[in-house]
Amino acid sequence: MPDLRKVAKFGGTSMADSAAMRRCASIIKADPDKKIIVVSATAGTTNLLTDLIAADDADTRIEIAKTIREKHLKILKDLAQPEKIEDIIISLLDELEIIAARTQIMTMMLKDEILSFGERLSSIIFSRLLSEESGEPAIWFDARTVIITDNSFGNAEPDVKAISVKITKLVEPLLLKGRIVTQGFIGSEKNGATTTLGRGGSDYSAALFAEGSDADVLEIWTDVTAIYTTDPRIVPNARPITEISFDEAAELSVFGAKVLHPATVVPAIRKNIRVYVGSSMEPDKPGTWIVKESRDKPVIRAISLRKDQTLLTVHSLDMLHRHGFLARLFQVLSDHKISVDLVTTSEVSVALTLDSDIHASGKQKINDEILAELREFAEVEIESHLSLIALVGNNLDATAGLSGPVFGALENVNIRMICHGASSHNLCFLVSENKATDVIRVLHDKFIIS
Ligand code: ADP
Ligand code: ASP
Ligand code: MG
Repeated sequence: MPDLRKVAKFGGTSMADSAAMRRCASIIKADPDKKIIVVSATAGTTNLLTDLIAADDADTRIEIAKTIREKHLKILKDLAQPEKIEDIIISLLDELEIIAARTQIMTMMLKDEILSFGERLSSIIFSRLLSEESGEPAIWFDARTVIITDNSFGNAEPDVKAISVKITKLVEPLLLKGRIVTQGFIGSEKNGATTTLGRGGSDYSAALFAEGSDADVLEIWTDVTAIYTTDPRIVPNARPITEISFDEAAELSVFGAKVLHPATVVPAIRKNIRVYVGSSMEPDKPGTWIVKESRDKPVIRAISLRKDQTLLTVHSLDMLHRHGFLARLFQVLSDHKISVDLVTTSEVSVALTLDSDIHASGKQKINDEILAELREFAEVEIESHLSLIALVGNNLDATAGLSGPVFGALENVNIRMICHGASSHNLCFLVSENKATDVIRVLHDKFIIS
């Protein structure tokens, strides 16, 4: 049988320390088909970099840069021959500290430059460790030379055609010499400035590498053995899913299942690449295959949770008669790069949900300036500390009598907003944050376990 080509991505916890990295190296070493290795920053590093960016005094920023330095030097020390990469790692850490020390105006461009340090550090260390462990060259490769994006810093849009051309030109010749180890999450725009693909974007990077290199399989190695029927950290009796369709997996991740970045399946769908999700800690346990058509199609396959949601309700007294209200509302949000998730409208009001956690989303938050602009033509109410819960499966829009039992099971819960019917793959609603886990447990027991 001809060789398969596999792209394997290892997330933050898989890169947490030298022991975790060694486990990843042994997974790679055992499979010569794994030719392109995409890694995330070491666990917690992107959050630290986000905190560094958000800090407004130099002392705090320097302190965070030093924490990042210690973390990486500790892993470096565990290599057989740290001296091979010590200079480059130290110069990167110095560079980060210099940026932290200078009083900076944090432009979006600079933020992405800072965020890129996480993946650049981890990938250099891991390529060295993999070479030592496998006894074969693992070639470090700068993903920014091929992951070409637009200049929407913080959430850049990849240019799929350009990426494919660059991969053919720059990656293919290297693969003749050995495996490459590269970074997830980061890319570059046409002038060469570093961009990022949004939080959790390493999965997406790996999918873009898989698409551009005509891979047969994309593997996402993470800290859970599979995609589960709900987050196993919230509901311990959640069940691993053996096989799920691209559509369902996309929907699950859009609605908060962090195990996969929402855009990951998009390149996989375009090229019909099979995606496998497994645990780098327990690689022998069965994982999940994400495929074009799954063999079974349950109405409710899984339940996802997205925390830190804000509900914005905008009323216009003129709405009944005035054209252009929605256009004006969305123009203000778009001018401020506010990304809206759910929308429901009545004749006189619009309700929207927004992410409010900078760590989870990396998105722009609603602020006083935006509210003032909206209040020029509407009444605005804000409610926070909400969670979005989504039931994900098949034909949910066409299944008669579904909402009765779902909302019947939640009699005592105040449901703030419901979206049903817009997609055949989900039914979702907002509840107060402190009720969310109970709601998931109740629904999971009722619709998945029994
Ligand atoms: P990585 O760093 O490997 O990218 P993430 O933390 O981004 O890993 O994603 C893995 C996490 O996703 C798990 O630890 C788990 O808590 C969470 N998760 C949320 N929903 C699900 C689900 N349905 N199945 C599995 N994991 C889930
Ligand atoms: N390191 C980035 C993050 O934490 C990208 C990723 O891990 O997927 O968001
Ligand atoms: Mg992730």
